[in-house]
Amino acid sequence: MGRPRGFGGAIRAGVIMCSEPVNSARLVRVRTEVITNVCQTHDMDTTSVTSSRRTLLMGAAATTTTLALFAAAPSASATDKQPSPRPAFVPEPVRTVDAGPQRVAVTFDDGPHPDHTPGVLRVLRRHRVRATFCVVGTEVEKHPQLLRAIHDAGHMIAGHSWSHPDLRRLDPDEVAEEVDRNLAAIARVLPRYRVEWFRAPYGGWSPEVLGALSARGLRPLGWSVDPVDWSRPGTDAIVERVLSELTTGSIVLNHDGGGDRDQTVAALEVWLPEALSDGFRFVLPA
Ligand SMILES: [Zn+2]
Repeated sequence: MGRPRGFGGAIRAGVIMCSEPVNSARLVRVRTEVITNVCQTHDMDTTSVTSSRRTLLMGAAATTTTLALFAAAPSASATDKQPSPRPAFVPEPVRTVDAGPQRVAVTFDDGPHPDHTPGVLRVLRRHRVRATFCVVGTEVEKHPQLLRAIHDAGHMIAGHSWSHPDLRRLDPDEVAEEVDRNLAAIARVLPRYRVEWFRAPYGGWSPEVLGALSARGLRPLGWSVDPVDWSRPGTDAIVERVLSELTTGSIVLNHDGGGDRDQTVAALEVWLPEALSDGFRFVLPA
């Protein structure tokens, strides 16, 4: 993991740095729907960011298109007396959906891929299931027609970086570039589509990564059921793992790119209708 450091200029919107006391009357307008503020000293180690230390320092008021963030920091004397590090708040990845009994979600990472994405789309269409595709920028550049097909079929598109690195190992400028190039690649194909979610490759979340996402109005998308389909454990093994772990709120991780995903598609043809017949219904993260 790269050396943690303050966000400095890497966070351009939606975040107020709290290495200095925040003026109580400060008003920052941001374009995001997610209010996040990240307060972090420049020398804080990421391992020290624990839940008990996370403190939401600011209140927020939102409209649908523009947010007004009103800073209301604790008194300067209170924070100044704290030994380092100061409290920090970052959003946690969303690992489950909350849409009622037996509501679950399925996600596909690392595509789009010409050998596997069409098969996944075919199975989803057959069963009228909507899914989320976490797409890699370099693959979007190569296969824009597949991204359009995903979108036209009514599925949700989420970011998954430009080139699929472990973002925890990058410095803030590199993280920003990975996210922004990913979004730009999607926007070139779907100019009016608004990406709301982003999944870090390898689930590589860190305070810096989470802060960079929230600064762009992106919500971090995790998962709760991982059949490890990318390791090609066998179609039956994928089916068994998904069905045995599927429960209300599950977000299933699958892959339609990044390698040979024939087993993923074959397994989907089995476990998806079984899940439906067991009463599960698929929703998009919201
Ligand atoms: Zn991935």
